[in-house]
Amino acid sequence: MKERIVLTSFAYAHSPLNRAANIRTAPDEIAKRRSNPEARQVSISGDSVLLNGLGLDLRPADVTDESVFLGDDRQGLPWFAAQSALTDSHKSIRSVMIEGRISAQDLSIVAQARSLVHWHESHRFCARCGAASVMQDAGYRRHCNSCDADHFPRTDPVVIMAVTNGRRLLLGRQSSWPEGMYSTLAGFMEPGETIEDAVRREVFEEVGLVVGNVGYVASQPWPFPSSLMIGMIGETSEAALTIDHSEIETARWFEAPELRLMLTGQHPDNLHASRPDAIAWHLVQAALRTLEG
Ligand SMILES: [Zn+2]
Repeated sequence: MKERIVLTSFAYAHSPLNRAANIRTAPDEIAKRRSNPEARQVSISGDSVLLNGLGLDLRPADVTDESVFLGDDRQGLPWFAAQSALTDSHKSIRSVMIEGRISAQDLSIVAQARSLVHWHESHRFCARCGAASVMQDAGYRRHCNSCDADHFPRTDPVVIMAVTNGRRLLLGRQSSWPEGMYSTLAGFMEPGETIEDAVRREVFEEVGLVVGNVGYVASQPWPFPSSLMIGMIGETSEAALTIDHSEIETARWFEAPELRLMLTGQHPDNLHASRPDAIAWHLVQAALRTLEG
């Protein structure tokens, strides 16, 4: 591999909470936290989170036995999450991120809250026998009292990759994206597959390139609803693309000067990279540094 690329921090990552997994199964510890008058509760409705004029609207009085325990903060205060009915004070998590309305640390807590609340909403019934299941371990397990099965919160891994050929970077676009946006290829990993094999499979499927070296760069929780984006860089010696138009609209090679214009919003044809809350944006930026290096 060439020079290793290093990313700075990005959205939804690096939670300040101690998740305190060891106390999830200790009812006294959890009960003590639920009754703490200074407990924090993140209220989630779909892809939105409850805000007030200052930031997150955290309401200790709303903590119930159904609230999911997120962890303890550095002051020792417990944080919870719960689903709530949508109100005018709920704001889209992605808009909140883009507008900088809450701190990066709070945003990472919101990501954890969003994924867990969504999992409970969508997994209320046992996948084995269909009976209603009940929350256990302060929200990190659901148990079926009918067939005794346990179910655990899911994380869905997605590979997202900067593919380079010499001093060029491959980017593609999907027809559903905003006009002019180009980004790194990505796809869900499949069962029984390594991360490296998933990168090679996705790139071959989408653009027909055989990728050789593959390396890990960084990962990002993506709470819409529960993905983990695994940022990778891959190298190919091939250049001719065979695009599968059922997967992507188009793809092509970009050199450093054009990428720089896309990242700074100065491209003459208004081509641009993804939104900066996505790891894709950071992958393109990091790849640019290696192409220029
Ligand atoms: Zn069951």
